[in-house]
Amino acid sequence: GSSLLLQRGTIGTLALDHRILMGAMHLGIEGDRRELDQLAAFYEERVRGGAALIITGHAAVLPEGGGHGMFCLTVPDHRDQLRELAGRIRAAGGKLALQLTHTGRYARSAETGLTPKAPSAIASRLTRETPEAMTASDIADVKEAFAEGARFARDAGFHAIEIMGSEGYLLNEFMSPLTNAREDEYGGTLDGRIRLSAEVVAGIRARVGREFPVIFRMSGEDVMDGSTTPDETLALARALEQSGADALNVGIGWHESRLPTVGATVPSGAFAHIVGAVRAAVGIPVIGANRLHTPEAAEQALARGDMDFVAPARPWLADAAFARKIAQSDRDGLNLCLACNQACLDHAFGNPRKAVACLVNPRTGREAEPFVPSDAPIAVAVVGGGVAGLQAAKTAAERGHAVTLFEARDRLGGQFLLASRIPSKAVFRETLRYYAVALQRLGVAVRTGTVPSAEELKAFDRVVVATGVEPYVPEQLEGADLSLVCTYADILSGARAFGRKVVIVGGGGIGSDVAHYMAETAALGQDVNAFFAERGYAPASAHAVPFGITLVSRSEKVAKGVGPTTRWVLLEELKRRGVEVLKGYRCRAIDAGGVWVENEAGERFLEADQVVLCTGQRSRTDWAEWLQAGEGDAERLRPDVVGGASDAAELNAARAIRQAYELAKSL
Ligand code: SF4
Repeated sequence: GSSLLLQRGTIGTLALDHRILMGAMHLGIEGDRRELDQLAAFYEERVRGGAALIITGHAAVLPEGGGHGMFCLTVPDHRDQLRELAGRIRAAGGKLALQLTHTGRYARSAETGLTPKAPSAIASRLTRETPEAMTASDIADVKEAFAEGARFARDAGFHAIEIMGSEGYLLNEFMSPLTNAREDEYGGTLDGRIRLSAEVVAGIRARVGREFPVIFRMSGEDVMDGSTTPDETLALARALEQSGADALNVGIGWHESRLPTVGATVPSGAFAHIVGAVRAAVGIPVIGANRLHTPEAAEQALARGDMDFVAPARPWLADAAFARKIAQSDRDGLNLCLACNQACLDHAFGNPRKAVACLVNPRTGREAEPFVPSDAPIAVAVVGGGVAGLQAAKTAAERGHAVTLFEARDRLGGQFLLASRIPSKAVFRETLRYYAVALQRLGVAVRTGTVPSAEELKAFDRVVVATGVEPYVPEQLEGADLSLVCTYADILSGARAFGRKVVIVGGGGIGSDVAHYMAETAALGQDVNAFFAERGYAPASAHAVPFGITLVSRSEKVAKGVGPTTRWVLLEELKRRGVEVLKGYRCRAIDAGGVWVENEAGERFLEADQVVLCTGQRSRTDWAEWLQAGEGDAERLRPDVVGGASDAAELNAARAIRQAYELAKSL
């Protein structure tokens, strides 16, 4: 078609079928030989899914510049594994670029067993370690290691390399005055700070010749006060081109940046103009990635001339056929990344670190497991149309079973649908659309507004219960039955209008999200009312606007269960929107005028005309009664229970989806 994304392109001598690459991600299993098959299967599935070029996760060029779950090129077995990997991807018809990295002051001595080395001995907020300043001979070693890494990649059968020079890693650190206080020729002036990056590229060029494609991932904007200026960034881009880079991949932000760059609160395409400025300064192709998770955003970025290629990463975790579906114009069938980070970045950067998975795609991280149709198809009933039920129905149908999905409400989605009201979670509707389309294509009978009877369910060979959760209201809580009290579900579903002075009880993930939702909606209401007032128009009914929201958290740590990459963003949103947060307070009782809270120091009364309980949830167990309504033991159905209906301890969509997938795979 006329899509720019689907036009052929080249990076140096490398001809590519279209403009959609897969950006570098490390999965946290790299280097572990037992996981090599899984790693290869992960990439092979993305080759089949149409990736024009896949960029691997970091491969460290030196041991002190590595880290957990990372290949290191000085380890002979890692080199063997990388050779095998390159061979398998070639055999599958794919193109693979090896990313060469030195993590510099972001290296952790606990993982490498070595003192981190960096341009200067300046501590990192990320690791809370102070690196050693590199000597002249250290710098010579770095240049040699990158050149040797490139030669290795070429001879091992990789199609290209990408030099990691962004995100605050070593080469980026040399470029930034924040981390480079050197007084030799590798610091000080702009030329000095550019020097190492330029010499690394030139050294690689000298080693591998003109033909082998070299991509440099540079930082388009560090998002760090006092770091590299925009003009300096363009000077770096030109120097890289002159030194022999075939393409520039432009990253945004450091791991220490306090501006969200990868979360759902960041508008799509927000950083594309920064990539565009680099593109205008050079003659080689330029690649961009941040927040280009939809085909529309990616296409627009190309149409505006901001970039020549897109290299999204997480969207390939969410849908292994990201490019193939775009090529087939199958937008409806695309499983979009939610930018939730819950199973990817929060696993990769969590403590302890875990292998990368994906909330919306339970197959991610287990591509090596075969998925085979059932040789004995049966009739399966799934009761409950939240994400656990949707996933169970989808997977069972994919295996060839005849599936009927029952949902008591008239819309699918359960808690996920409720959550989609929360700012930054509107994208959850895309997941529900994806499931609805998939079930329709698979011929699943979807019966909304229906609670099946035990009698009806007896017609099925297997019954999967995925009835989810309901809000939990503590029974002992005095005043919980008063009319000013409601639950988070009442607020998110729109069943209750907002009060004017709101106290939210429960400072976990849901309480924090509800506070965010109410505060955002209130701000919007203020805008609308101000818009009318400024124009002298008085509508019959003004928008209800809470003028005070207080979030009461039992724990000192608000939004405790929220992952490390998202929590700080959420807390800053609450602060920005003026939500008052009370930490370390327990709710003792509610009366008609407000809430009594207490801590060791004593008691406080919070005036309120609305109290929203976000005090957890519990499994819906009403199903047990009607399923067990049969006569004798033999008559009784023995359902499999998945998702929140089986465990409501913490609301965890990733776990629910994965559990449903596992179960349905075994039916
Ligand atoms: Fe995207 Fe969330 Fe999946 Fe990560 S876990 S790839 S952010 S949907």
